[in-house]
Amino acid sequence: MAVHQPNILLVYTGGTIGMMKDPETGALKSFDFKNLLNNIPELKLLDCHIETISFDEPIDSSNMNVSYWVNIAEIIETHYNEFDGFVVLHGSDTMSYTASAISFMFENLSKPIIFTGSQLPIGDLRTDAKENLITSIQMASLQKGGKPVIREVGLYFEYKLYRGNRTTKINAEHFEAFASMNYPHLAESGVHLKVQHDDLFKPNLRRKLVVHKQFDTDIILIKLFPGISQSLLAPLFELSHIKGIVIETYGAGNTTTAVWLVDLLKQTIKRGIPIVNVTQCAGGSVQMGQYETSTQLKAIGVISGKDITTEAALAKMMFMLGENVASKTFKTIFETALRGEMS
Ligand code: ASP
Repeated sequence: MAVHQPNILLVYTGGTIGMMKDPETGALKSFDFKNLLNNIPELKLLDCHIETISFDEPIDSSNMNVSYWVNIAEIIETHYNEFDGFVVLHGSDTMSYTASAISFMFENLSKPIIFTGSQLPIGDLRTDAKENLITSIQMASLQKGGKPVIREVGLYFEYKLYRGNRTTKINAEHFEAFASMNYPHLAESGVHLKVQHDDLFKPNLRRKLVVHKQFDTDIILIKLFPGISQSLLAPLFELSHIKGIVIETYGAGNTTTAVWLVDLLKQTIKRGIPIVNVTQCAGGSVQMGQYETSTQLKAIGVISGKDITTEAALAKMMFMLGENVASKTFKTIFETALRGEMS
């Protein structure tokens, strides 16, 4: 009996990975993904069947927005039953935001969606693109008993597969461009692919896939700094159409105890606007109440982002507002891990 070769759909959205140097002019230009298999013959050696879909106009990921998130989700949704796994090629700059958003969009996901990209174009001699692409396809193809091993949104870069909504871009230059400070990597590529089975997301396989496509972008992110101005901050919080606020605080979720700030937060929460506390630190968790400087935040109903990344907190807030989660339950739901995005 013929062994089933996994079907993998490669979705090209843009970014450095898809560029090639024009041998005549030396300029970088977008690569024709229809000819992917001819240009990267190594892909023919993989034990899977690959098809590709490209954005009509590939983008630099700095131009990523909610409608592109929906485009990516709809491509995957349309082809969900025909393929065993999906690899999304995406610029690295905002890859963590998109991977987080897609993780919230796909409820009860039971197949891998692996994001990858590269620091150097695929046509560059020293490129990291080939390894990232080939291993991402292998990760998406991993099967056990005819079923995908990875059933979540991952991000693969420089020999490691991470949970996408746990990642942050930490380096604009190194091949090791991403980190997942608060959650272990899911798999590592060395001589063998080593999967950390205990750390993989375990979806409820009896539930049907639901794809959510509404996001509300009327939110702001405020990074606190010593000296932050009351007169500049207050009007932002008081905007009539603001729906949610993420504040990046110090250490374990601390802010100044200045009365004006605590009052501003309190009045905003009273208006039914959720405020989520995430830490400015690269790793670790918000623990409101640990210091005097966060006790009041807890008392006035600030939501704890725990150890979520800022990228995932913003995506989760836009997603939950888009889903019209009632303000009564917003805090409880935000503080619950929906897709493994917090501990
Ligand atoms: N600016 C590019 C982008 O994010 C960088 C990259 O592809 O890594 O689209």
